[in-house]
Amino acid sequence: MAPRVRFAPSPTGYLHVGGARTALFNWLYARRTGGAFILRIEDTDAERSSADMVTGILDGLGWLGLDWDEGPGVGGPHTPYFQSQRVERYRAAVANLLEAGRAYRCYCTAERLRDERERAEQRGEAWQYDRACLALTGDDRRAREVSGAPYAVRFRVRDGHTAFDDAVHGTIAFATANVEDFVILRSDGLPTYHLSVVVDDVDMQITDVIRGDDHISNTPKHVLLFEALGSPVPRFAHVPLILGADKKRLSKRHGATSVMEYARQGYLPDAMVNFLALLGWSPGDDRELMSRQELIDSFSLGKISGGNAVFNTDKLDWMNAQYLARMPVDELAGHARAVIEEAGLAGSPLVRDEASFFRLLELLRPRVKRLGDFVDQGRPLLASAVQYDADAIEKHLTAPGLVDHIAVLAESLARVSPFDEPHVEGAVRGTAAGRGIKAGMLIHAVRVALTGRTASPGLFEMMALLGREETIARLNALITFLAARK
Ligand code: GLU
Repeated sequence: MAPRVRFAPSPTGYLHVGGARTALFNWLYARRTGGAFILRIEDTDAERSSADMVTGILDGLGWLGLDWDEGPGVGGPHTPYFQSQRVERYRAAVANLLEAGRAYRCYCTAERLRDERERAEQRGEAWQYDRACLALTGDDRRAREVSGAPYAVRFRVRDGHTAFDDAVHGTIAFATANVEDFVILRSDGLPTYHLSVVVDDVDMQITDVIRGDDHISNTPKHVLLFEALGSPVPRFAHVPLILGADKKRLSKRHGATSVMEYARQGYLPDAMVNFLALLGWSPGDDRELMSRQELIDSFSLGKISGGNAVFNTDKLDWMNAQYLARMPVDELAGHARAVIEEAGLAGSPLVRDEASFFRLLELLRPRVKRLGDFVDQGRPLLASAVQYDADAIEKHLTAPGLVDHIAVLAESLARVSPFDEPHVEGAVRGTAAGRGIKAGMLIHAVRVALTGRTASPGLFEMMALLGREETIARLNALITFLAARK
């Protein structure tokens, strides 16, 4: 049977990078093996879950391009894919387990459980449910049933040992004595996570459970439940945690953790997918830049590392820059236009004319790490008026006679033909030579005239791109500015 895997987020927050990486590994495995990737929303905690969060998670997966074969919006043979709509199934499973003697009603109050736990802690012992309600006599039980006392349902953990296979950690064996009789149905009639996740994995015929390491301690309970429900136990792959640069668990302190925040910051989905894939997995050679297809072709659960993965933002920036550098310019134009429009700079002729826009992108591309850098780097060229930076003024606009040098250059540029890179360069160098000044000095001043900054892409390329009229207009604006300062 072809593998069936699932991503099962709880919609209590947006899609964070850890969840996205788990989803990606499931997706890659399904695409690699020709299996099915199922999306299941674990929204039984009504207070903490919200429809907005569901939308946020779907948007995040959509942005990353991780399409699911069954789940919300797609449907499938196991509809519904929202746990909040499957509660009857969980109750039916509990009824079966009760019937088979694999579960029992527990009438213990929260106070009693808390007191017992505290007493054990004072003795320095870990407390595990003492099976008080398993020991009730038939009469005690009937009396409680008749009185309508509230109860939870606990799973009756069998004696002995069991084990599960983990693609990352190998075979993990455990003694069931360390697993308490855990609650599967709360006194409010709602299932616990342990029950719903296993009932759904059984129903949805999940063959491989790929999820975060933080669930590894739950797995013994799940294995026992699979067994009790008479179902084969899936294979597991518990993937390592993602840590920040300081080796602490990745959190907001380290910067953005929501996938859509990375989208807003101007990372490309392909770069993000490539980066996330290498968090805890490697193709087994030293490749780093890998297309989706290459990732699919090389993916295997066995190559997931057991050690924790470190989220290195510099590496993500580098990777994104590589994707931006390699992307065909017409595709890049779509992404860049969106951020430039958002910044209100799309009115520039350099954006409106496609050939100029492509040239602008080529000019800026080597200096760009994120899409937003097209705005920062492009702003001086795209804005209608140049703002001169204070340090640029101080560094490059104080030479004596500068107004005259610029005026002469403007005249020379009025005659240059064609107005292309070599010819404007000739005009700048020729003017400097004619005026007996260093070309570098004139170049720096012209850079400030065109961009207001001390650093920019190549000056002659910028002049050629702006064109004769705009270049001269900017030189004249500088002359006016300098004259006003005298
Ligand atoms: N809903 C669980 C979570 O978001 C995942 C459950 C699982 O993968 O087994 O952590």
